[in-house]
Amino acid sequence: MTTVSPITDAVAFPSLGAADLALLQPMATVCSFQDGETVFRAGDAEVDLFVVESGAVEILNPADGGRHVVTHGPGQFAGDIDLLTRRPVIVTAVARGKTRLLRVPGGRLREVLNKLPHLGETMLTAIQERRRLLAETGVFGLKVVGPGKCKYTTLVREFLFKNFVPFTWYDSASDKGKQLMASWGSPRKSPVIDFGDGRQLINPTLRELAQSAGVWRQCPPEPVDLAIIGAGPAGMAAAVYAASEGVSTIVLDRLGPGGQASASSRIENFMGFPSGLSGTELATRSVLQMLKFGAKMVAPVVVERIEPQNRPSSQSRTA
Ligand SMILES: Cc1cc2nc3c(=O)[nH]c(=O)nc-3n(C[C@H](O)[C@H](O)[C@H](O)COP(=O)(O)OP(=O)(O)OC[C@H]3O[C@@H](n4cnc5c(N)ncnc54)[C@H](O)[C@@H]3O)c2cc1C
Repeated sequence: MTTVSPITDAVAFPSLGAADLALLQPMATVCSFQDGETVFRAGDAEVDLFVVESGAVEILNPADGGRHVVTHGPGQFAGDIDLLTRRPVIVTAVARGKTRLLRVPGGRLREVLNKLPHLGETMLTAIQERRRLLAETGVFGLKVVGPGKCKYTTLVREFLFKNFVPFTWYDSASDKGKQLMASWGSPRKSPVIDFGDGRQLINPTLRELAQSAGVWRQCPPEPVDLAIIGAGPAGMAAAVYAASEGVSTIVLDRLGPGGQASASSRIENFMGFPSGLSGTELATRSVLQMLKFGAKMVAPVVVERIEPQNRPSSQSRTA
């Protein structure tokens, strides 16, 4: 069913058994698709969870000429990390044959993860592994062209990387970079970010990029119990503990989750991971964990000041 090894297959593309499907059914509706009908399209935001009851769903990568990624059969589900971040998906899903799907509204996903922990663990592991596998296939997501030594191109790459926005970077001095720039009419400024759907940004602000890439979330207008400044390991650990105790929590960061640790190729001294883990893995696991408990993440925002107020119920936020 996939081109990866059977072991990786079982982790990234698990088949849920009849008992698991029965647990999901009360939260789901059943929907039917004809052969070739689109279930969701790359760029769609806030996609629901689709589990195949019968038939199949093929996943295609539009950033790579619509290349086949995987076909999900009965018991398997579509989606990756965007299921939880609620950002636009990067692949397209098409029904193959007459297909019946269980559709769990995306807004109820946290309920699935929290109420059905066995299922939640299988799904969380799978969605992390899927993004890693997709990254290994090469071309995916946005195209970024800019000079390797340009500070702002580096910042754009760091921003996209930290926020799990898949992209491929081409140095504008490379043959491919020059070819892409020429095909886009040789813009005078860079970096150029091409979304693959006709949209392009030239030397955007991080906020503009966040908006176009579907990363940007407004700060919730209602007061929160806890606002955490900085989504490094410390901020995200605090968010996990607070949100898991029912404290309404928001995490604000000037770039995105991960902090300094996301630059580390191997962290050996993090408790609970005797064989170590990379900074990216730590950031991904931490952000999924805090989102699972309902903490909210807003980036990029720079907190400039905190204004204490006397009334204990009032909040102050400057971003
Ligand atoms: C390459 C590298 C390898 C490392 N390897 C290891 C290791 O193996 N083991 C180990 O123990 N440690 C390691 N470290 C150190 C470790 O990464 C840090 O100790 C850890 O990241 C500190 O976490 P933190 O959350 O306190 O702060 P940070 O990771 O610095 O995170 C702070 C966050 O706050 C945000 N922020 C700051 N100011 C504002 C503001 N005004 N508004 C909005 N957001 C703001 C920043 O953008 C950042 O994301 C490594 C560091 C690096 C760079």
